[in-house]
Amino acid sequence: RIVYVNGAYVPEEEAKVSVFDRGFLMADGVYEVTSVLGGKLLDFAGHARRLDRSLRELGMEMPMSEADLLAIHRELVARNDVVDGMVYLQITRGNPGDRDFAFPPAGTPLTVVLFTQSKPGLADNPQAKTGLRVISIEDIRWGRRDIKTVQLLYPSMGKMMAKKAGVDDAWFVEDGFVTEGTSNNAYIVSGGKIITRNLGSDILHGITRAAVLRFAAEAQMEVEERPFTLAEAHAADEAFITSASAFVMPVVELDGQKIGAGAPGPVAKRLREIYLDESRKTAV
Ligand code: PMP
Repeated sequence: RIVYVNGAYVPEEEAKVSVFDRGFLMADGVYEVTSVLGGKLLDFAGHARRLDRSLRELGMEMPMSEADLLAIHRELVARNDVVDGMVYLQITRGNPGDRDFAFPPAGTPLTVVLFTQSKPGLADNPQAKTGLRVISIEDIRWGRRDIKTVQLLYPSMGKMMAKKAGVDDAWFVEDGFVTEGTSNNAYIVSGGKIITRNLGSDILHGITRAAVLRFAAEAQMEVEERPFTLAEAHAADEAFITSASAFVMPVVELDGQKIGAGAPGPVAKRLREIYLDESRKTAV
């Protein structure tokens, strides 16, 4: 596999990043994951915009133009023959030479790394037909979940708790309200309405979320952006999640109890179809 590191395309075995890099020592960095379907990038502009925001919120700046960023994504997709899969991008505050809590002086070069992962048949994931089973766990993450940082220890622990419980994923709960999934936004459908937590610093502003809510509105589906409780989720007609790599995935079980009929619901199925159709059309 060919990866990109600070301006160079190199075989993965030859890629090097300093042990003093603040991404490695302090999780001082941000990332994006952009899906590839049929060799094209989904929602690229949305991911580039959020990357810019994440960087600025942490006092960093986009190290290159959006056009240059797109060119690197495309080059990696081409060089690695990615048909279906994803491009991972990470920008960290770089390598000031010594470990220090304070940020390095302005002008210290950021570390930019991109690589691809092929996932043949990504859009035909059989889990879309069966749905996911999730458990709820306490949300003990930091207060700026709107910034897409590489600090993913608790989400990783959440995935492991789910694995140990024999299910697919976990939903975070704070003060009785569902915030989001370990790596996705969470939704329920109740009384014909799609309910998902409103944007704030307590969840990641999903690029897929934005697209799906736009498509839902265009299809005259009713959407309510507000926090919902775990009890509401248990009583819901259906539930689903969204993310760049899972698209729209039905959720059929929560903490061992079926949601609705315990099978993927019509709203999730329809939104998945619309999302895949529409985002393929605007892929670049
Ligand atoms: N919330 C969290 C915590 C995530 O990690 C992700 C995916 N990285 C999402 C939501 C979904 O965001 P997106 O649709 O942009 O992939």
